[in-house]
Amino acid sequence: AGTLYLVGTPIGNLGDFSPRAVQTLSEVDFIAAEDTRVTLRLLNHFSIKKPLLSYYEHNKRARGGEILRRLEAGENCALVSDAGMPAISDPGEDMAALCAEHGIPVTVVPGPCAAITALTLSGLPAGRFCFEGFLSTGKKSRREHLAALAGEERTMIFYEAPHKLRATLADLRAAFGDERRVVLARELTKLHEEVQRMTLAEADAYYAQNNPRGEYVLLVAGCPPAPEEPAEGGMERARELAAAYM
Ligand code: SAM
Repeated sequence: AGTLYLVGTPIGNLGDFSPRAVQTLSEVDFIAAEDTRVTLRLLNHFSIKKPLLSYYEHNKRARGGEILRRLEAGENCALVSDAGMPAISDPGEDMAALCAEHGIPVTVVPGPCAAITALTLSGLPAGRFCFEGFLSTGKKSRREHLAALAGEERTMIFYEAPHKLRATLADLRAAFGDERRVVLARELTKLHEEVQRMTLAEADAYYAQNNPRGEYVLLVAGCPPAPEEPAEGGMERARELAAAYM
């Protein structure tokens, strides 16, 4: 059987496309792309000529089967999304799962991911974090999603489209409170890259006055851990131990 190559693409700056990514796209038999027009621009920039097949949210079931048959017949396929790592809030996850299920070799050519790029420069604790992707648009499932994060101590990472940013900031403020720290990482790796660090109340107020522009990753600080209740007799035992070491 052939191999499925999951290839990361730039999130803005074409200089981030690696030589290995260029080589992989040049050598596979065909490329499955989220939006073939977007990928064609990338291919043209790197002078790569390759047959393209669309693979996106609404055709991925049928297309997945077709790609699987071609892999089984020995062809190699590279799968890319419009920007960043395939499978991260993007198509690719199902194709990787389908190949795993059918014993088709899968490998990856890593590239930038907006979530990790934003976390890296946020200044928020990065040792443990949780990626929450896009909040759903449905009011109820959105509320449930945020309610489930009420006690989350890790840094939380969200993706959001610019036209929904205001509503999302308002919901984050309602869920986590005025004083919770938020970092808005905008237009990463692009000309107007910007990082805003503020409280949720400040972010909400700022974007009531200013139009959101470009692409954003939102990072919300985790809640401070609850102070540990000393267990029954715990304090007494601690004092004894401390005295023994004096
Ligand atoms: N697969 C991509 C990845 O690995 O990051 C994510 C794709 S998701 C459909 C698109 C979202 O990623 C945007 O709405 C935005 O939240 C975030 N994003 C992508 N590129 C970005 C950039 N250059 N700066 C800030 N956020 C970006």
